[in-house]
Formats: sequence, C-alpha cells, structure tokens
Amino acid sequence: MADHDSNCLFCKIAARQIPSRMVYEDDEFYAFHDIHPWAPVHFLIIPKQHIPSMAQVGPEQAAMMGRMMALVPQLALQEGCNPYPQGGFRLVTNTGAEGGQEVQHLHFHVMGGPRPWLRG
Ligand code: AMP
Ligand code: ZN
Repeated sequence: MADHDSNCLFCKIAARQIPSRMVYEDDEFYAFHDIHPWAPVHFLIIPKQHIPSMAQVGPEQAAMMGRMMALVPQLALQEGCNPYPQGGFRLVTNTGAEGGQEVQHLHFHVMGGPRPWLRG
C-alpha cells in the first residue's frame, strides 16, 4: 500500500494542502473537526498513512489501530464530550459503499455532547 495518495482528500488535509480545524497531531495520526457535524462534538481521526478503509486492516495494522483507538477517550474529553457514564461519545467507522463510506481514507468519527443531535 502506498503511504500517501495524491488524489485523496484526507491525505491532503493531513499534509495541510487543504485547510482543516485541527484537533490533534502526532507523527502517525491527524485529527480535525468534521465539516458537517452531526453532534455538538464531531471530529475525525485519521492515520497519516493512506489506508483506504477498515476493509484493508489486518494483523499488520493491529498495533497502529490500537494506538488510534487509544486516542479516542483523550481527544473526546479534550474536545468537550462529557465524562462517562452520563456523557460519553460514539465511535463510528463507515466502510465501503454499503457501509456509507464517502471518503476513501480510513477514519474514525468521534461524536458526543448533549442531545438531541442532528443525526444518529
Ligand atoms: P464518511 O461518510 O464516513 O466517509 O465520512 C466522511 C466525513 O468527512 C463526512 O462526515 C464529511 O462531513 C467529512 N468531510 C468531508 N470533507 C471534509 C473536509 N474538507 N473537512 C472536514 N471534514 C470533511
Ligand atoms: Zn488518503
């Protein structure tokens, strides 16, 4: 798998070629606010490496996926999700056309904040 895809929207966002509202960055991951939020808190976490979707994830990605998942609680609180259990958050990864995926670069949606939400 190539590390980056020059036609990929989220590769361009991670490379700062397209602007975004950053939530977090390290060597491996980039997180930014969703441009069409469904919930009071709605941001995306992506690996900087271009992986098209969760369908390409296997044992080789297990450690990276674990690190990506471990960012979720920390960033959820940082971005204003209320603490568990009264608060919490929703973690979603749409995969493929039937899974509702629109951008073909692996991403976690993290949504939270007081209800009602616009969707979900
Ligand atoms: P998915 O349908 O799971 O592939 O989700 C793609 C998400 O990316 C949607 O929730 C979009 O609102 C969001 N999105 C698309 N373009 C941008 C952008 N330029 N900046 C931030 N979020 C975006
Ligand atoms: Zn990409």
